Amino acid sequence: MIYTVNGPIEKDKMGITLSHEHFKWETDSSYAHKLYFDRDYDDEKTNINFELLIPVLKDLYANSCRTIVETSPPIGGQNIKLLRKLSLESGVNIIPCTGWNLSKYTQRIHSNNFAKELAFQWIKDFQEGLDTIDGINIKPGYIKLLLDRGDFSTVDQEMVRAAVMASKETAMPIHCHILEAEMLYSVIDLLEEENLDLSKFLWAHASKEGDFDAINYGVDKGIWIGFDMIREGTYEKNFELISKAIKLGFEDKVLLSQDYDFYEQAVEHNNPQSCVSFFTKFIPYCYNYGMSENIIDKMITENPANFYDF
Ligand SMILES: [Zn+2]
Repeated sequence: MIYTVNGPIEKDKMGITLSHEHFKWETDSSYAHKLYFDRDYDDEKTNINFELLIPVLKDLYANSCRTIVETSPPIGGQNIKLLRKLSLESGVNIIPCTGWNLSKYTQRIHSNNFAKELAFQWIKDFQEGLDTIDGINIKPGYIKLLLDRGDFSTVDQEMVRAAVMASKETAMPIHCHILEAEMLYSVIDLLEEENLDLSKFLWAHASKEGDFDAINYGVDKGIWIGFDMIREGTYEKNFELISKAIKLGFEDKVLLSQDYDFYEQAVEHNNPQSCVSFFTKFIPYCYNYGMSENIIDKMITENPANFYDF
């Protein structure tokens, strides 16, 4: 099943999917914590954000988008109530997550059982749901992690361990932000040490450095690859990355998306059109340069359906 804010759906109902977008990153961390831990929503704020974001969602629907993966983890203020309202009104499925939910410094205090306790929380999020709204128990569709740049820190290692434990227990896949290709090798070492089925792991932002040594290494191990920062101004680079993946024969392991923050684009930058540019500009660009429609279609329908289904 695919776990959305309107409850579970069959994978063939997912349709065309943007696999990595943000609705509104919440910079007020105490509000983000209230949303996650207390399910305490500021309804006025939710309604205002709904009005600001609904045109974007409707525009995405009009441009054939049927599912969006919300990649703001609990610490980024994932607002389940807002996502559900947007989904119901627009017809776009939205997949929420559990995952990174507290200051990484917490690990220094709870160093003995950190991974286990964190995993316990994520398992609970799946079993009990992130919230129950209008009688619908809303379960997370995956685990979202963000690893910091630089060394693979102790806390990030512990977070990955926790995600492996929670994934094994619930079957949730792991969607992991890694900006520096060099780090992938140590992450995979750890995943192998913990015996994770590597097809449960997605390397988000693999396109950032486009390092094909690391990408090939990951693909050979069985992980999924995110070319997920396809924003205006990056089309040439992303076209080349996708072409290379096709040439190397792993187009069935690639997920595509824009990694926009819809609120930031539509409200702060007053550029709501950018949120649909994947459909209005990038796809036409690919066709124009000879890429097969079938392959792009597969990357935005079958691939996400295969990764997110459990
Ligand atoms: Zn992102």
